[in-house]
Amino acid sequence: MGDSAALEETMKHYDVYQGCEAVKRGFSWPAFFFSWIWAISRRLWLQAIVIFVALLGMWVISTMLREQGSTLPAHLANLASIGVFVVAGVYGNRWRSAELARRGYILEVTKGLQGPVSEILSCTSCGAQYRTGDYRENAEVWYCSSCNNPLPKKS
Ligand SMILES: [Zn+2]
Repeated sequence: MGDSAALEETMKHYDVYQGCEAVKRGFSWPAFFFSWIWAISRRLWLQAIVIFVALLGMWVISTMLREQGSTLPAHLANLASIGVFVVAGVYGNRWRSAELARRGYILEVTKGLQGPVSEILSCTSCGAQYRTGDYRENAEVWYCSSCNNPLPKKS
């Protein structure tokens, strides 16, 4: 019971990117289980390549060791690949947050140049004005950039 409560608590902590998506904070189980496949699905190319090469290297080393008849070092090489999965799980969400922040920044610049067609509304909590075009339509909740309270999607 304690574990599920802790998990629920962890799941409440998200980083929300304006116009992007919410990223869970803490350990990423999808990243742990699917490592480089997960990285590709999240468009984290560099991480995908590094993870893939590390796992391939570990597999080659353990295969070579096993062919030479040394089973214990071969097992250690396999164990090291589990270490790669743990690293992916621990850093997965941080990689995503960094990547989204980077892409979000580019998105804002592009919008500024084109001038989006959107409504200008006021935050019901602090009165700060915002453009509906700056937020993604299918995002569950929009947050005010001034006071962090949820924003209405329509006037
Ligand atoms: Zn506000």
